[in-house]
Amino acid sequence: QVRVRFAPSPTGSTHIGTARTALFNWLYARKTGGKLVLRIEDTDKERNTDAALQELLNGLKWLGLNWDEGPEVGGEVGPYFQSQRGDIYQEYLQKLKDAGRAYEKDGAIFFKLEGERYTEYDDYHKADVEKVKTQPVVIEDIIRGNVTRREERDFVIVRSNGDPSFHFVNVVDDITMGITHVLRGEDHLPNTSKHVELFKAFGVKPPVYAHMAMILKDPKVGKGKMSKRDKGALIEEYQNRDFLPEAVVNFIALLGWSPKDDQEVLSIDELIERFDLKDLQKAGARFDEKKMSHINFEHMKRLPADKYLPPAISALSKAGLVDDSTDQDYLKRVLELCQQKIDSFEALPSFSAYFFSDDYTVDPKTEKKLLKRADAAERIQEAIPALEGLETFDAASIETAIQALADEKELKIFAWFPLLRFAVSGVGGGPDLLPMLETLGRDRVVSRLKKLAA
Ligand code: GLU
Repeated sequence: QVRVRFAPSPTGSTHIGTARTALFNWLYARKTGGKLVLRIEDTDKERNTDAALQELLNGLKWLGLNWDEGPEVGGEVGPYFQSQRGDIYQEYLQKLKDAGRAYEKDGAIFFKLEGERYTEYDDYHKADVEKVKTQPVVIEDIIRGNVTRREERDFVIVRSNGDPSFHFVNVVDDITMGITHVLRGEDHLPNTSKHVELFKAFGVKPPVYAHMAMILKDPKVGKGKMSKRDKGALIEEYQNRDFLPEAVVNFIALLGWSPKDDQEVLSIDELIERFDLKDLQKAGARFDEKKMSHINFEHMKRLPADKYLPPAISALSKAGLVDDSTDQDYLKRVLELCQQKIDSFEALPSFSAYFFSDDYTVDPKTEKKLLKRADAAERIQEAIPALEGLETFDAASIETAIQALADEKELKIFAWFPLLRFAVSGVGGGPDLLPMLETLGRDRVVSRLKKLAA
């Protein structure tokens, strides 16, 4: 049975790369019917904070990435916090000592490599250092094939302050937790040869590795690795901006992975069905803010009413556009109109303000473009009586009325449409015009036309 783990060190805000590691492990576990272990690597007492841990757990839950063993759910190979596994580390340290593979130097405990020892001047340390002629280790990596690396210096497994090192606890935990596959960032590749040496010393077959390519900055922002300060880098930001968790999961999954046919919009179930470690890419994955918005837009369009309406209404009331006195029927009709057009809840208030208030912003560019037309005033004047006099104010009747005007003046219906839209909304784009006019209703439409004509 596949056993994977997500092993974060909660030292700060949850980065999108951390979430990706969690997601790929989760997808692999769900895909294979295996287990996902959440292990908290909190050995660095100075840097690990409870706030960071809470933010991390909260982010995972928000994304829908549940774990089968770990904090809050328990499991048979716990504790799941490294800070509580001291006894296990002692036991494993003893094994290395018994095998003659650990020794003390300068107050720290070192892991002893196997091979012929020699001394060599080392440029980096500017001194003679002891090196070891080891057999190269072969790292079995699903993404990179077999990677051969050689360790040539003994390394610390217990620091002089008594804390076991990352390399040591990471391997002891992977052994004691029965981990079969390690999916982690490419930045860990230089550590992996140390880890494989440790596995060998314990007489345990190392897990299969998959070292995921780094996430790179949006090319519009700059070059190189994405940093915590880049826009879109933190999970918290997506939560605060009311992005859809399923859209964020979809987007993150595409950072370094894509299905064979390059389909971009995928539900969680489709992701599980189509995910395969073999399709992870070796090259760095470019962050693309536009693509994130697009994917959120596609997921917004597909939301059922019960998932769409509550956050939409909350976004509008936060912006002060609606309250308890707002006509609920009207509100729903407006929100339905907008659903097909907005890429985030965040965008909703400015997109729909004119439905709820006469005090909306007018786009100066659209105003200039439309009103400089010599016939603008005339067209607006003609539209007023045509719409005011309608028996029923619905999309079809509005269209018929404007079409009749167009026939009479020997013009196209589009001599009116952009002007009508601008007159009632102050902008050049928005929901489909005719249902939008119907929803706004005769009173708003006619009075706004009159205001513009005055
Ligand atoms: N705590 C390590 C990290 O956050 C875990 C590395 C691993 O997955 O093995 O990078």
